[in-house]
Amino acid sequence: MQWVRAQSIAEALSHAGPTSRYVGGGLSLSLLLQRGIEQPETLIDLSALPLRQIEGRQGLLRIGSQVRLAELSAHPMVQSLAPLLTDIVRQLATPALRNQATVGGELLERTRCPLFRDPSNPRCNKRTVGSGCAVIDGSEHPGALFGTSASCVAASASELAIGLCAMSAEVTLYSPEGTTERSLPLLALYRSPGSDPSTELTIERTELLTSVTVPVATQQVFGYARLAESPLVPLASCAVMLSVRDQVVVDAKVILGGLTAKPWRAERCEPLIIGQPLASVLSDRVVNAALDGAQPRPASRPLRSLAQQVVREALRRAVEKHAAHRR
Ligand SMILES: Cc1cc2nc3c(=O)[nH]c(=O)nc-3n(C[C@H](O)[C@H](O)[C@H](O)COP(=O)(O)OP(=O)(O)OC[C@H]3O[C@@H](n4cnc5c(N)ncnc54)[C@H](O)[C@@H]3O)c2cc1C
Ligand code: SF4
Repeated sequence: MQWVRAQSIAEALSHAGPTSRYVGGGLSLSLLLQRGIEQPETLIDLSALPLRQIEGRQGLLRIGSQVRLAELSAHPMVQSLAPLLTDIVRQLATPALRNQATVGGELLERTRCPLFRDPSNPRCNKRTVGSGCAVIDGSEHPGALFGTSASCVAASASELAIGLCAMSAEVTLYSPEGTTERSLPLLALYRSPGSDPSTELTIERTELLTSVTVPVATQQVFGYARLAESPLVPLASCAVMLSVRDQVVVDAKVILGGLTAKPWRAERCEPLIIGQPLASVLSDRVVNAALDGAQPRPASRPLRSLAQQVVREALRRAVEKHAAHRR
């Protein structure tokens, strides 16, 4: 295996191809390499690239993809303009992992489905399309509730994406096929498995994510909640971002994670919030609408009530934050 420490974006792109992988902090990738799940011929180390800045300009926060998670949560501009991100990152993994993991790597890491990561399991459509799915075929692992298909029920891995999608973040990408950059909404980066679950992304693995841009507005309040089966792995999570004027919600984003095949926008819930007094967002009607579209299997049915709990809790925290701001 060849290891290349790229000194520029152009050099990184010049080594990218079907058998290469970029290395952010290397945490997630190294586990898959050790188990033989990923077998690239070239590893492109991004650590020398100038992608480690956090800049604020004209209502936007631009975060380089090589920023470490610990740097992100400790940055004064993030703490004052995007505290939702600080809140999420502080609950991720461990301090040592947060010192090494990068924003780009966290957003693009592969599913944490245990049977995808188990090389002794031969039935995984994500590893080999057409081989079956050991989870669907009887494992006790519950899988995801939203956005799954008959070929894969794996949950997406990124927790940071839940908050960034609630903030309507965009990502900037470079492709080896052209030197120009392109941007797309972060939510559009992720795909449902459909009949080909081999990738979780709508982009090619050769595309280089260079930054994430987040609009920041002063009249927004957020709520984030997660319920974890262990302190290290999120099981169900929800991020809510509300824009409030005169006690009325004028815009809302509700994003579910943990139990979802991709960051999941609760689209049927948002219209029930927008235009309503802030106090009414905690109704059962709103919480139940957030779960519209869930596709539980027998093993995942008990997770429905967990999803309801995290949605309710995230909404409650947003309402409380707004009340605290006014005091
Ligand atoms: C014990 C443990 C507990 C954890 N707990 C949590 C948790 O509670 N919540 C949570 O969300 N995560 C958790 N994680 C996952 C952890 O957050 C990820 O391993 C880490 O964020 C990956 O970041 P990285 O920079 O090391 O990624 P890497 O391993 O470097 O990369 C991950 C993937 O992204 C690709 N990539 C990296 N950077 C780029 C780029 N700039 N452009 C294009 N592709 C790129 C790589 O090719 C690879 O496919 C845990 C991990 C461990 C080991
Ligand atoms: S749920 Fe998806 S990733 Fe997990 S074993 Fe089945 S096909 Fe593989």
